[in-house]
Amino acid sequence: MKKKRSIIALAIALVLFIYCITTYKLMSSRTYQVAGELVSRVETSQKVVALTFDDGPSGHTDDILKTLEQADVQATFFLIGTEIEKRPEDVKKLLQAGHEIGNHTYHHNRMIFKSPSYLRDEVEKTDQLLRDAGVTGEILFRPPNGKKLLYLPYYLSQHDRKTIMWNLEPDSLDEIASSADQIVEYTLTNIQPGSIILLHAMYDSRAESLKAVQGIVSGLKAQGYQFKTVSELLQMQGK
Ligand SMILES: [Zn+2]
Repeated sequence: MKKKRSIIALAIALVLFIYCITTYKLMSSRTYQVAGELVSRVETSQKVVALTFDDGPSGHTDDILKTLEQADVQATFFLIGTEIEKRPEDVKKLLQAGHEIGNHTYHHNRMIFKSPSYLRDEVEKTDQLLRDAGVTGEILFRPPNGKKLLYLPYYLSQHDRKTIMWNLEPDSLDEIASSADQIVEYTLTNIQPGSIILLHAMYDSRAESLKAVQGIVSGLKAQGYQFKTVSELLQMQGK
């Protein structure tokens, strides 16, 4: 009897363990979600890539704009609603310079284990701020920290929205984030046609990420790559 009980306890523990691992993998996956379209890289044989910046706008928007102008590339920015409210003019400046702007939620909280209405508000409040600042057309969405589980993908698929992830995030790797040269080298080494590169240059602590932009752009252009916004990159799917 005792033995039977301990077998049952063990089985329950195992099921819970598998459930936790599966949940974690699911919410963190860059390439899979339960519903709707998730893009971490575009399948193409053309030498095209997209440079994306997460978070902000911030006091570094102008620095990034200047760097991108000097590098002569357009990028895609996933901005946070609460930060847009502080700097709505930054959105206009980014648009005027030809960059694309996506939605990165209102509060930048992890979009898991929250109520459907909370998740919906996070997306829709930020959409409205972007519309007020002049964003037209489809608004791409990227979840904070890439986290999503069940309702968020369902909601996005119901609204025919894509979840835009990334396949290269050089400044999220501690061992290289503190060196612009290493960020550049990592990017140039691991690039593939259709790659989506993520940088976090909006923060004071990420000066090296901003410094790396010029090297990433000139290095990739030397390899024959062209820079596209994420929407333009999506058009290259299968080409
Ligand atoms: Zn973020």
